[in-house]
Amino acid sequence: GCPGRLLELKGNIRVLCRLRPGTPSSLVSSEPGPGGTVTTCYRGRRHCFSLDWVFPPDASQEEVFRELEPSVLSCLQGYSVCIFTYGQTGTGKTYSMEGPPEDPGIAPRALQSLFREMRTGRQHRVTLSMVEIYNEAVRDLLAPGPPQRLAVRQGPAGQGGIQVAGLTYWDVPNLETLHQMLSLGRSNRATAATAMNQHSSRSHALVTLTLRAACPPRGSGTAGTLHLVDLAGSERAWKAGAVCRAQGGPDDAQRLREARTINRSLLALGGVMAALRARRPHVPFRDSQLTRLLQPALGPGATALLLLQISTRPEDLGETVCSLKFAERVS
Ligand code: ADP
Ligand code: MG
Repeated sequence: GCPGRLLELKGNIRVLCRLRPGTPSSLVSSEPGPGGTVTTCYRGRRHCFSLDWVFPPDASQEEVFRELEPSVLSCLQGYSVCIFTYGQTGTGKTYSMEGPPEDPGIAPRALQSLFREMRTGRQHRVTLSMVEIYNEAVRDLLAPGPPQRLAVRQGPAGQGGIQVAGLTYWDVPNLETLHQMLSLGRSNRATAATAMNQHSSRSHALVTLTLRAACPPRGSGTAGTLHLVDLAGSERAWKAGAVCRAQGGPDDAQRLREARTINRSLLALGGVMAALRARRPHVPFRDSQLTRLLQPALGPGATALLLLQISTRPEDLGETVCSLKFAERVS
């Protein structure tokens, strides 16, 4: 890549916000589009949050992807791009990332766009891996046989980065195979009922595509990577725990532990992004498995796109404000 452009992308974090459809709205107001805003009034305090982009409740999957597509395609030039969906359970993280078959979301659109572009350009070798992080345990979602817990280690000295021992990387020759592998991974993703949502996933799911030019021009052998991360629900531990306790049942302690570890890794993600944004010399990648795994992908020259999903239901206002504050901290 050209050095000028690399510099431009260095430490680039964009926060986009998508409002979930549904009435009535608990927001004071929202201004959609680039440089959009969301204004809330919570506990008597009015607060206006500025974002890089705000998608109104009626925004289509296509409109959302249109804003992300240029970054997705920059992977073909050797860049590293991470797209996260963040928010409280039920706000549409999985809807945005995966989408229903009849109205596909970011992941299927990104893959289609990349494969379309590759057909017309230079040949690339595409590899895929898919993991889940649940209670700080990393599991391979594409390993043959029962899912195994994997160890995350620091890579060889001087090379930076981390290694996930035993993680399977699949060569993906075409889009059809890629879709088959993704649906296999998805069906392997552990889900557990919670007090918030019976079918909510309590884990982070990471899809990683590596695109390596088959005949790189001299001196540019770097691979581009695309990470698609469907984060676990961001609701505060006390809330999930409190409702669990009220309902009783043998799984209470486990649910509470889950909520706490999920919170810890989201907090770590926020810490890493804030440090990158402020160009602090120390970036606390080691604070969680999520940030350790993403360390190579969030380094210099990388682009991170955080799609903040927010509910407009009055009863969710506290969580909505928390999500917007998270965004404010990293942007
Ligand atoms: P999360 O993954 O954040 O827990 P989901 O993606 O499962 O949330 O969404 C919760 C519900 O809301 C699902 O039934 C989903 O289809 C619906 N939903 C979310 N966002 C939208 C949207 N933009 N348009 C239509 N339905 C949506
Ligand atoms: Mg989900």
